[in-house]
Amino acid sequence: MLLLTLALANDAEYRGSDSDMIELRERLRLLDETQRREESKWERAVEHTWTLDIYGCPSNLEASITEEVMLAFAPDIGDSITSILFVETTYFREHVSSANTVAFAHYSNIVAVKKPTCSTPVQSYDLRTFLAHEIAHVRTFNIHNYQDLFPREGRSQTGDKRTLRQKWASLDSCSVTYVGDDWKKLTTTPDGLVRKYGAKTWMEDVATFVEVTNLIAYHAKLDDRALDRLHDAYQGNAQHKKCLQNKLEKANAFRFLDDETADLVREVWASSTPTSSALKTKLQSLRETIHARNREALKDR
Ligand SMILES: [Zn+2]
Repeated sequence: MLLLTLALANDAEYRGSDSDMIELRERLRLLDETQRREESKWERAVEHTWTLDIYGCPSNLEASITEEVMLAFAPDIGDSITSILFVETTYFREHVSSANTVAFAHYSNIVAVKKPTCSTPVQSYDLRTFLAHEIAHVRTFNIHNYQDLFPREGRSQTGDKRTLRQKWASLDSCSVTYVGDDWKKLTTTPDGLVRKYGAKTWMEDVATFVEVTNLIAYHAKLDDRALDRLHDAYQGNAQHKKCLQNKLEKANAFRFLDDETADLVREVWASSTPTSSALKTKLQSLRETIHARNREALKDR
């Protein structure tokens, strides 16, 4: 599993100025217009279904992966995204300072993914994890920005008024210390986290957690890898396991994951054979069910 961990680079919340962000989006939009880039049917489907714009240069495969990942999330979560940008490195580097950054989310609900060049697609597994991760950030921004205005969002019937951040920080058995950029110096993943990168900030903790547990965002051909990764992330002491169980409950309560996916994650964690054909069949049929359900809900609006 070491290679897999190394292959996953870090992302960032957007740290540039807002005008820089708008400039990047406008630049890509103009490029699309002037080059009269032809959109694939998947790209049009995503734009139409979730009323958003895709700019930059997604390949047909990347656009179809985007559609699949979006379908893993509840319709209103997809609706909250305004733009998805597929940005070739040259432009990306002008707007994002860190060379290691592979994707980012901006609080105006824009998601951007870096491509080596327009004709070089992002590796399929990576793209799925990047998108799931960035959509989790957008969801977090929205919950957090608007939680005070919509007091019922994600709160319990008992009138618990704490925010997602407060709830996440005070989870039972979770004594994670967030260390900012010092996460790079960590030699092992601290207890209560699924990836070292989660030690950077509480928001990266949430996003890495969603990225690893949202199995529905993946694909049949990648299930072995995703199931192994999910299972490996859970192996550790009792405190670590209890913390992840609590995070799963919260991620589900705040609708980063649906009930069925959360149940399946528990089953994978409890299993000694996470990639058994029985679990894979279950996962694949659940994925079909959830995609179909979300597709239906999206049609009804
Ligand atoms: Zn992130």
